[in-house]
Order: sequence, then structure tokens, then C-alpha cells
Amino acid sequence: MNELQTLYQDVILDHNKSPRNFRVMTDATNVVDGYNPLCGDHYKIYLKVEDDVVKEVAFQGSGCAISKASASLMSVIMKGKTKAEAEELFNKFHLLVTGELNPEANSEELGRLVAFAGVSEFPARVKCAILAWHTVHSALQGRTESISTE
Ligand code: ZN
Repeated sequence: MNELQTLYQDVILDHNKSPRNFRVMTDATNVVDGYNPLCGDHYKIYLKVEDDVVKEVAFQGSGCAISKASASLMSVIMKGKTKAEAEELFNKFHLLVTGELNPEANSEELGRLVAFAGVSEFPARVKCAILAWHTVHSALQGRTESISTE
């Protein structure tokens, strides 16, 4: 394993062990449940949107290390973004984990999300990585029904 891969793995391990914004948000404007039945990942995503800006993101639930680390990083990165910027990030992350986006060429914008580029080599784990993002995407569109990766 090279130095960069080790660094990326550290990002995922860190966010899995100490997930950020891992709590119930009592004053959320949008709440959506997301399931990945293939792996058993299940999270509730809480959003607070005001004036078209994502003021806060929090999540609760359980799942594998990839899904939890991805939800944690997503919650950090989405904060302060406009709805349009958040949608753009969702699209970029989706392309990244499906191997359709060059991580090096987009590293400045993606920041620590680049840690998930390696997931594209493991199709079963792509759903783990994308779960929280699909859920927040749905919440941003004002939907309230649970989403499933299947
Ligand atoms: Zn998983």
C-alpha cells in the first residue's frame, strides 16, 4: 500500500471511529431515512435548510465503516453550502465512487472526499459510500419517504 492509500484509509478510519455530527437534530427542516439492504447500513439524515443554504447536517444510525465515514464527511462538507452547491457535490461524489471522475484533477474541490476514490474498485461498497449522499440528495429535493439503494 502506498503512502497516499494509507492516508486515505486513515481518513476513513478516523471518521468511522469518531463520526462528526453524529446526533439527533431536534430542529431539522428535513429528515430522511436511508437503507442499504445489501450491507445492512441504515441512517437517518437530518438537515437544517434556511434561505436555500444547508445550515447543518446530522445523522444517526449504524452500518459499516465505509458508510459511516462517508456520512460523517458528507455532514461536514455539506454545511454552509447552497442547495445548488450541495447538489453539485452529490453529483461529483457519485462520479468519484463510480470511477468516472479523476480524483487527482478534482482534489482541490473534493478535499478529503478523495479518500473514497478507491471504493470504485469494489462495486458492492459503492452503495455503502453513496448511501448518505443519496439520502441527503432526496432530503434536499424536499422528499420525506425512506430511500433504499436497491
Ligand atoms: Zn456498508
